[in-house]
Amino acid sequence: HFISLEGGEGAGKSTAISAIRDCLQAHGHEVVLTREPGGTPLAERIREMVLNHTPSLPVTEPLAAEAELLLVFAARAQHVREVIRPALQRGAFVVSDRFTDSSYAYQGEGRGLDPAWIADLERRVVGLQPGLTLLLDLDVGIGRARTTGRDLWPDRIESEHDDFFQRVRAGFRARAQAQPERIKVIDANQPPMGVAAEVARAVAVFIGD
Ligand code: C5P
Repeated sequence: HFISLEGGEGAGKSTAISAIRDCLQAHGHEVVLTREPGGTPLAERIREMVLNHTPSLPVTEPLAAEAELLLVFAARAQHVREVIRPALQRGAFVVSDRFTDSSYAYQGEGRGLDPAWIADLERRVVGLQPGLTLLLDLDVGIGRARTTGRDLWPDRIESEHDDFFQRVRAGFRARAQAQPERIKVIDANQPPMGVAAEVARAVAVFIGD
């Protein structure tokens, strides 16, 4: 009963998540919507630290890739124990805006950290995987155009960082190719409503409707 959404910036994840919630609730299921990095008060504080956007915490130094990975997993450890496991145990559907696949894509492919290390953290710290992951796959240039002016991770907004996002996208697609049963690729170059409709169809199949 665990579904995650993944994709680059501007892929239409928010609209898609509303569609998933509506679809599951229409079938009478309890739905817990959550997000990463974050999902608990402590994990949201870690999110602020890694996003570096709070006025109380001005950007003073670049975030080392290793620190980024461990902070994201610290938040995830808290998220899994406080929110995800309890919700799954009482039979709710959990829908997470991003999960561990993002670490393989951003911290692994994007920032060049060893995927074996990430796999080890996943095994020791997380210990569970979504039953269904929807990858909202989007052309990097289109994503950039859609997110201009939005608050994003610092250092990652200018076009010279497109190569970073190309690696992230390739990382997501490689994971989808390696795990086609779990990860469904949705073409997010279409308008958000079309993305949401495809996402809702995939969820309906997943719950056996
Ligand atoms: O999901 P959303 O786009 O709000 O994510 C916030 C930011 O966190 C994004 O800029 C994304 O690139 C970044 N992120 C990351 N590593 C993760 C998860 C998210 O760099 N593991």
